[in-house]
Amino acid sequence: MVAVQRGTSDSQRVIVITGHLDSRAGDVMNATIDAPGANDDASGVAAVIEAARVLSRHRFRATLVYAALSGEEQGLYGGRILAAYARAQGWQVQANLNNDIVGNSRGGNGVHDNATVRVFSEGTRTTETQQQANRRRYNGGEVDSPSRNIARLMAALAERHLDNLRVKMVYRTDRYGRGGDQVAFLEAGFPAVRITEANEDYTRQHQDVRVENGIRYGDTIDGVDFDYLAQVTRLNVVAMAAMARAPAPPSGVTIEGAVSPHTTLRWKAVPGAAAYRVWWRDTTAAQWTHSRDVPATPGEAQAAMLRNITIDDWFFGVSAVSADGHESPVVFPGDAGAF
Ligand SMILES: [Zn+2]
Repeated sequence: MVAVQRGTSDSQRVIVITGHLDSRAGDVMNATIDAPGANDDASGVAAVIEAARVLSRHRFRATLVYAALSGEEQGLYGGRILAAYARAQGWQVQANLNNDIVGNSRGGNGVHDNATVRVFSEGTRTTETQQQANRRRYNGGEVDSPSRNIARLMAALAERHLDNLRVKMVYRTDRYGRGGDQVAFLEAGFPAVRITEANEDYTRQHQDVRVENGIRYGDTIDGVDFDYLAQVTRLNVVAMAAMARAPAPPSGVTIEGAVSPHTTLRWKAVPGAAAYRVWWRDTTAAQWTHSRDVPATPGEAQAAMLRNITIDDWFFGVSAVSADGHESPVVFPGDAGAF
């Protein structure tokens, strides 16, 4: 099920929020047993519907797509269908925020944490070519895919706009050896992240509803913390609104400065950008730390030179900023970081 909220100016630029409708019990092929799926993934679908209720009252530059997908448990079928549809429509998918297992705050590890949510993002692009990989391996970019920079934006937005909810960025496509519908978007070349609760309870996932040795198994609704789910939904709403109000992320971003004390970034003008923000950070830092604003100049070619900041010692990026202050995700130069 897909709902489309057309953008006012960049209607081909699309931000997609997803959850999945299907659920399963112990045997993935058992189609008759009770599989309530309250947390995996009715919680994600609830986040999608609530995001639609809130955001549909406002207007945005970019298009917002709300999707409840099917067949995730059987093999990401819904995600693949939607990603293929997006390609066929020529959508420039700027981000897929996939909410999968977002409603439980009590982990099987005994930890009760209702103030942290994990955002998983791939480091290097699924669609990277061998040639691109060789360049990236030498000069950097292994932690600056567009998906990763969406995760960084979400972490920064949570800090700025939400009380008592912290984004724990995880430098992985998904949990170890596991997957979700965001993978279908990554395979199609679109930036995507997975949003998941901080501490999972495996007695409630993919289990037949039963009591065994005094332990209750099954994904029933009493395992959903609705206040926590509301917080995770707020994070989605804030991230979608911020990206859809901001201009598109800059494209054609290049960098130069070898054997020079200065570093220069160049990119193409972005419609609706009043200014650009050049960011840099230590090569071992998780988050962007230093920035400088540069006003947009007439014409297609935009550039900024950072005097006496050497290209060798930092990672750099650039974002686009609207006149009313909304900022796009940061774009790392070259193929590694391109949206
Ligand atoms: Zn799931």
